[in-house]
Amino acid sequence: KRYSKEDVLKISKDLGVEFIHLQFTDIFGVMKNVAITIEQLEKALNNEIMFDGSSIDGFVRIEESDMYLRPDPSTFVIFPWATQVREARLICDIYDKNGNPFEGCPRNALKRVLKEAEEMGYKFNVGPECEFFLFYTDEKGNPSLVTHDNAGYFDLAPVDLGESARRDMVLTLKDMGFEIEASHHEVAPGQHEIDFKYDDALMTADNIMTFKMVVRIIAQRHGLHATFMPKPIAGINGSGMHTNMSLATLDGKNVFYDENDELGLSKVAYNFLGGLIKHSRAFTAITNPTVNSYKRLVPGYEAPVYVAWSASNRSPLIRVPAKRGNSTRLELRSPDPSANPYLALATILKAGLDGIKKEIEPPTPVNGNIYNMSGKERKEQGILSLPSNIYEAVKELSNDEIIKEALGKHIYDRFVDAIELEWKEYITRVTQWEIDKYLTKF
Ligand code: GLU
Ligand code: MG
Ligand code: MG
Repeated sequence: KRYSKEDVLKISKDLGVEFIHLQFTDIFGVMKNVAITIEQLEKALNNEIMFDGSSIDGFVRIEESDMYLRPDPSTFVIFPWATQVREARLICDIYDKNGNPFEGCPRNALKRVLKEAEEMGYKFNVGPECEFFLFYTDEKGNPSLVTHDNAGYFDLAPVDLGESARRDMVLTLKDMGFEIEASHHEVAPGQHEIDFKYDDALMTADNIMTFKMVVRIIAQRHGLHATFMPKPIAGINGSGMHTNMSLATLDGKNVFYDENDELGLSKVAYNFLGGLIKHSRAFTAITNPTVNSYKRLVPGYEAPVYVAWSASNRSPLIRVPAKRGNSTRLELRSPDPSANPYLALATILKAGLDGIKKEIEPPTPVNGNIYNMSGKERKEQGILSLPSNIYEAVKELSNDEIIKEALGKHIYDRFVDAIELEWKEYITRVTQWEIDKYLTKF
């Protein structure tokens, strides 16, 4: 059920909620929150809560810093783990002092692209597969890189710390209204995945932010550290956030399905796919936004490296999962969980819509294992690689007006500035690898 303002006031009163967290997400995908007491709730729901935007990374300069939070009542949820004092949260959009949607707010950016889809007659449905690691913490509570197990994919280990933490995460998420479809151990030691049901893209982006918060909190309560860092350990699988997506008519009928097509895909689906392929190198900066993201996108660890699609093979960037009918969908395998979900979904959708508008045909599917092809074979088939680092990815982004439009100028500029700074910081480091390799050699 999606709550109205009146519902939120009534439930809060009936249940004795004392604290409300007004949450929003900054450009870099970090959740922020302003906590208010119950006495302020009505004021908050009337969009009267102000905050200083200049203290948020990449938002605004001091001169223009008065921002307003507009809680979305439908996002109201009680924190099941807060048992001493009852606490709840509301996810907010950010507005400027003149009452306009603030262009630096990622949730507003996603809403903009969703509106464009709606004007074309489409609803965008998305189901993510979030992977993460659980690590032990030391005596001081600091995370280590030591995992709690040696289990592997779908292993049924004797119930250990990780398993019971994961069970607790699932139960907590269920309490908060999530429909959990699957939860399992992943390939790497200490790596897990919890999948929740698809929903419209805005709801899903909100859910991803909530999911990450819950996973971290529950891990901590079990003496573990949960991380969504894409590649915490070299030499084993990293964590992805495979993104399953489809378009539906406004009354909910999947428009990716066509029973008369050889693969069961409609023209809209093919064109959406064509758009994804065309813009993939540009939106990678957003779906894989950290230096570390690119250490996952290498051969050998089930993560995509090449820009290709297939209905049968799992190695390419985009796969068409076997389900058809109303479950017909595309699975984009590149995003990782360090991405800002609002911006990731905004740029992905924009790419697909561009494909539909321009009737972009996807390249022929690649059904062999691309990793076994030589560079020459790939070149002959016109298969490009994803960017190999965040710097290259940002360069691709800067050449793609469509994807830039999805972000809006404000977000694009701040994002690029921040990445350039981070990149400079990273490449000027002298790493242990270099010391090991060169110190005695030269
Ligand atoms: N962990 C892999 C990745 O980096 C994905 C494994 C899977 O297929 O679920 O994307
Ligand atoms: Mg997985
Ligand atoms: Mg998958």
